[in-house]
Order: sequence, then C-alpha cells, then structure tokens
Amino acid sequence: MGHDDDLIVQRREGLYCPQGDFYIDPWRPVARAVITHAHADHARVGHAHYLAAAPAEGVLRARLGEITLQTLAYGEVIDHHGVRLSLHPAGHVLGSAQVRVEHRGRVWVASGDYYVAGHDHDAREHNPSCAPFEPVRCDCFITESTFGLPIYRWVPQREVYADIDRWWSTNAEAGRASLLMGYSFGKAQRILAGVDARIGPIVAHGAVATINDAYRAAGVALPTTHSVLDLDKASLKRALVIAPPSVQASPWTRRFGEYSDAFASGWMQLRGARRRRSVDRGFVLSDHADWPGLQRAIAATGASRVIVTHGYESVMVGWLSAHGFEAGAFATEYGDEQEDRVEAGEAGRVDATAGDAA
Ligand SMILES: [Zn+2]
Ligand SMILES: [Zn+2]
Repeated sequence: MGHDDDLIVQRREGLYCPQGDFYIDPWRPVARAVITHAHADHARVGHAHYLAAAPAEGVLRARLGEITLQTLAYGEVIDHHGVRLSLHPAGHVLGSAQVRVEHRGRVWVASGDYYVAGHDHDAREHNPSCAPFEPVRCDCFITESTFGLPIYRWVPQREVYADIDRWWSTNAEAGRASLLMGYSFGKAQRILAGVDARIGPIVAHGAVATINDAYRAAGVALPTTHSVLDLDKASLKRALVIAPPSVQASPWTRRFGEYSDAFASGWMQLRGARRRRSVDRGFVLSDHADWPGLQRAIAATGASRVIVTHGYESVMVGWLSAHGFEAGAFATEYGDEQEDRVEAGEAGRVDATAGDAA
C-alpha cells in the first residue's frame, strides 16, 4: 500500500518520517525519536535525542532516567528539514500525544495510543488525569487498534467509578481492605482521579506512588495517598489499595489480612479474562478507545487514508475498506502496556465469551 512520497513509513527500527529523518516510538535505538507517551512499549531507552510533549517530561524521566529530551507544548510547531511537526493531546495518559507532520501541504497524523470519551458532550467521560483527545485534520491517519473489535464498547466511565466506589464502601463497612490492581502508570492515576476519596484512606503501592509524584508535579489533582507503612491496622481495613498486577498473591498483600481484590482494565469486558485473573471483581476501565470510539476518532480526522497499528489490524482494515477508506496496516512491535501482557494474550481468545461484560 505504500506510496513513494509517504510522510511516515515502516522501517526495521520503527515508524519513520523520511522527509524529516526522525522516528516515532522506535523499538530500536535511533538518532532522533519522537515519543507519543511514556509507556514502556513506546518509550524505550537508547535513543540519542528524544522529543515529547511537555506534560510527559516527568513520567519519561521517571521511567527512562538520563535522556536528552526536548519538549513541545501541545500545538507548538517546530520545523525540521522542511517538515512541520506538532504534538496534540491523545487522552491516553499524562503527556500522551498524537504526532502531526506536514510537508508540502500534506498532513499525516500518528495517533500513538489514545482514548476518546464515549459521550462527547459529557466532560465526566474524559480521562480525568490528562488532557482530552483532540481530533486533528489530516490526509492520512495512523491509528492504534488495541480494542479494535466490535465487542469492545465501554460503559460510561461515571458508572464504572460508581461501581468501584460501591465495592470499596461495602468492603470498608465489612472491615476488609479493597485491593484494586491496574497499570502503575496511567490506570492507577485515572482510578485515583475518579474515585470518591471520602470513603476511606487510599494506599498507593511504591510503583504507583512514584508515578503519582510525576502527575502531581505536572499539576494533575490526585487525592492524598499513603504508603502502606503509614496506616495502622484499623485504617487499612477501610482502605482502597492501588497496586500493579504483580502484587497479586505476593507477600506484599499479607499485611491487609482479609481483603477483596479487583482488576481494572479494558480486557475485563471479557468474562473469561476476569475468571483467569481470579479476582473478586473486574472493572472495565480502559485508557484506549473502544470500537465506536476508534471509528469516531478516525472520522473526525477527515482522513481518506488510514493505516492501522497496534491491535486487531485486519478487522479494522476490513471495516475501513468496506466504508470507503484507503486502508492498510503497519506491523509494529508495540505490546500491550508492560504489566498487562497476560491480558493481551487472553484477548486473542475472544470467541465464546465475546461481548460479555465482566
Ligand atoms: Zn500506552
Ligand atoms: Zn501502546
């Protein structure tokens, strides 16, 4: 499907802009890397020069350490070898950006990972922990497709938060801690920004606390969180504990005594995923667009050509082709977010349990 003058092409190292001589989220070390966001599969160590959105700086440095980093405010344009480049909010995690490149009047946008609110006019449906997705007009849109299957349709976020609050309240009244597991970067802060902190104290696992600090430093309002060592036994029994999935069944959880556990992820839409995780509850809370969200985001770009990456490429390409788009796919080496590899594997088995909300 490639054309000679494409603005972004696929190379061994990653997605590449030949006119500007830079890569976007490369998976092998390169001279110039534009980074859409700080998740491990997109932001890797070893590049000579990094460019990212300004709000991403804290989390990028927390995860990658010493890097040569240049930042741009959202919407700020730089000219590089005659290519105009700017970054625009993707609504996925703090600092996540779509990359807009313009050359000789043509515009391409690479989405990175993105989340769009299910209900456009309801601000409560945005990811409360970062700037909301902003549609950018372009000729060609490179879209992610992590949840690019028709079975993925998120229920309104406010209902998910209400469910989490109810589960936490019920546990607190019964005198048991509520252990809620999710990615330490992105999901954890999104949960924190959305729950009702009046229900009880909130404990953040160390991996989560480090990222919380970067969010707070960037001006994101999060409720007060405590180290597990700061709370006495009575307080722990009423606490919401936010931790990465790696703590499940580990010695770290023993200090809570009796507790209820839950997992927050888009994959929880599949009943089988929750069962295989063997947790009490699964909350369907995703930082990626669902199937209708992907379609709405694609339509809003006005692009006639769409290149699908990072997910169910063939299903989405088929849908796009049937709806008049020039569609193709790039094979990328993005995984799912590092801590959730197990669920990524499970998503391949969507057969019998398809469409069943956990
Ligand atoms: Zn991501
Ligand atoms: Zn990703």
